[in-house]
Amino acid sequence: MGEIWATYTCPHCGESNEIPVDSGGAEDQTYVEDCQVCCKPNVLHIKVDFEAGVATAWAAADG
Ligand SMILES: [Zn+2]
Repeated sequence: MGEIWATYTCPHCGESNEIPVDSGGAEDQTYVEDCQVCCKPNVLHIKVDFEAGVATAWAAADG
């Protein structure tokens, strides 16, 4: 199984982040990850389509 990547836009700085998705995880994932650009925490919501091998991600600011 290949790697699945998702892209989200940081709500703090507006930059896009590309993140690897845990393909062994659940279809719906939520976790906190720091932005790679501004290092502020974002709550990420990931929706994985395992059949298509793609994932959709969106982020909300954590505080
Ligand atoms: Zn950012």
